[in-house]
Amino acid sequence: MNSSWLQFLLKHIYPQNCLLCGADADPKSRFCDPCYSSLPFNHHACPRCALPLPADATAETRCGACLNKRLPYASCHTALRYEPPSNHLIAQLKFRHQLHLTAPLARLIIDRLGELDSLPDLLLPVPLHQQRMRERGFNQAQELGRVLAKHYGIPLDGRLVKRIRETKAQSDLSEPLRRNNLRHAFRVHGSLQGSRVVIVDDVVTTGSTIHEMSKTLKRSGAAEISVWAVARSVADR
Ligand SMILES: [Zn+2]
Ligand SMILES: [Zn+2]
Repeated sequence: MNSSWLQFLLKHIYPQNCLLCGADADPKSRFCDPCYSSLPFNHHACPRCALPLPADATAETRCGACLNKRLPYASCHTALRYEPPSNHLIAQLKFRHQLHLTAPLARLIIDRLGELDSLPDLLLPVPLHQQRMRERGFNQAQELGRVLAKHYGIPLDGRLVKRIRETKAQSDLSEPLRRNNLRHAFRVHGSLQGSRVVIVDDVVTTGSTIHEMSKTLKRSGAAEISVWAVARSVADR
């Protein structure tokens, strides 16, 4: 095998170029420095639901909705706002099977979380319905969860929670229909009595999915629930 062919192969098997511009990348983040700094980090966000807030918001500022609403999860942390280029990266992973994006996207969550004072007991990816799983061949939330589980040394269970109803695309529905659409969509096979769990997802769009899944986890005994995701939609539609 000649060296240019070998380089071609290595480049595609172990790509080391920036995921956005193709320049030399930091091997850890897989972005070049300028692209990494221009990512839409969700630094100013509601600590409960991760909704992006104006830049002058303090770490304790809650969004208007969370001031008046009881949520079944304690906190939600997302690395990025769901806007270009994070939406493109996530779509590439999800719909174009670009699984090499899993590690760099999970790394962004790790960068966001930093060192954790105390670790949760269990990571639970948002499950796909069986039919969707068959179509896609993988669950992106589970793939992200695998990287996080390995990094923090926390078990990941992708079988405990099942999605028992295929649901319509949430974005097509109005708020009341959205809640109805997801009602009883999840089932827990086992007990979570007293455990502190983290739901892992790629994108938190409306918050309805993590809301419904959290309610199901609570009914199964989960004591505390947090959410870790790559990105959060700007508009809480
Ligand atoms: Zn770049
Ligand atoms: Zn909020």
